[in-house]
Amino acid sequence: MITVEEAIETILKEIRPLRVESADIIGALGRVLGEDIRALRPNPPWDNSAMAGYAIVSEDTLGATDANPVSLKVIYDLPAGSTPQGPVVKGTAVRIMTGAPMPDGATAVIMVEKTAQGADGSVIIRSEVKAGENVRRRGEDFNAGDTVIRKGSAVRPAEVSMLATVGVPFVPVYKRPRVAVLSTGDELCEIEETPAPGKITNSNGYALAALAAECGAEAVQLGIARDNRESLREKLAIAMKYDCIISSGGVSVGDYDFVKDVLREMGSEMIFWKVAMKPGKPLAFGVIGGKPAFGLPGNPISSMVAFEQFVRPALLKMSGRTDIFRGTITATLTGDVKIKPGRMNFIRAELKRDKGGFHVAPLEGQGSGMISTMVRANSYIVVPKDSAGFKKDSTVKVQPFDPSVLMEKEPGY
Ligand code: AMP
Ligand code: MG
Repeated sequence: MITVEEAIETILKEIRPLRVESADIIGALGRVLGEDIRALRPNPPWDNSAMAGYAIVSEDTLGATDANPVSLKVIYDLPAGSTPQGPVVKGTAVRIMTGAPMPDGATAVIMVEKTAQGADGSVIIRSEVKAGENVRRRGEDFNAGDTVIRKGSAVRPAEVSMLATVGVPFVPVYKRPRVAVLSTGDELCEIEETPAPGKITNSNGYALAALAAECGAEAVQLGIARDNRESLREKLAIAMKYDCIISSGGVSVGDYDFVKDVLREMGSEMIFWKVAMKPGKPLAFGVIGGKPAFGLPGNPISSMVAFEQFVRPALLKMSGRTDIFRGTITATLTGDVKIKPGRMNFIRAELKRDKGGFHVAPLEGQGSGMISTMVRANSYIVVPKDSAGFKKDSTVKVQPFDPSVLMEKEPGY
């Protein structure tokens, strides 16, 4: 058996980011930039007012107080979106709105709330204003030629804002992996059918497609391949047109477990592993025509755990991401965990954040077919390969797969 860490390392060595394509900047959300983005113009594009008020020469306000007010002649109005009609010289002011360009000669803006109306449309100022006050400088955010977003950055709403600001409606982003999801088994029936005796619904196809979609991949379900070589060949021939193949079932040592044979036959350097993990021991991995193929175990929980540990990082790497692992946090165990050493265990658990920090409860029902436990779980307790488990109140490593549990929900701020 190989370790989980060895399996991950071997898989990731074979994975390359996909090519870069153009996407509109909203469609780019959650994807990864394939090139640096440079600004062609500065932001702000010119000095402008941060306030509604009066653009003035700051020296005019020297010594201004309630007892000794200064009166300036207002020479014109300057709304946002228009350009100055002339310079501000000593003794004059321009009524300016937020975002309007600073007129030549003006060195500061006094906010309207700090002024009063004088006679003949003049403005009365009763306090000193420093040069530069309420002025947003040309290029203070970024300058023309600056790299404003680096290649490899994930596009979040902040990056969308930046791209819109620099006037870029389309950006180069790594392709989303197109993933073929294949289920195998003579016992499987379609979700719309009432299972006949001996049959069960193909749930893995849906679960794996959902997991892939959660990674930002485009998952396509190819349906059910039966437990014979012809049926598998037929489905895998279609699957080879995708960026990545994920199958479930048929990789154990059962009499009808042909997935690894057929994958091998189709030209893949297949590695068949028993990975020292629980659940999820049998795993086939190979590269067919440059595309990764994962043969996951059939048990519903085994396939989901194996996806999380091996397929998710691979799909994220294909998408150009560098932060590809779920990561772990430490939490205090609220009950005993007892296991047989020798394999890394992923115990479905409920992680909670409370005043004492993170607490994690191992859930009852850890069988690899127990979907109800998965529904209640938000994390895995990770038990190292050679550990026999932990006593209640131990500090353990937890891998959350619902990151919202990490947030403080109350009071909110
Ligand atoms: P296998 O690895 O093919 O022997 O499958 C192991 C177990 O997982 C069996 O009990 C299967 O019935 C079950 N199983 C395999 N594929 C699926 C699937 N697509 N959906 C639900 N259960 C499955
Ligand atoms: Mg099977």
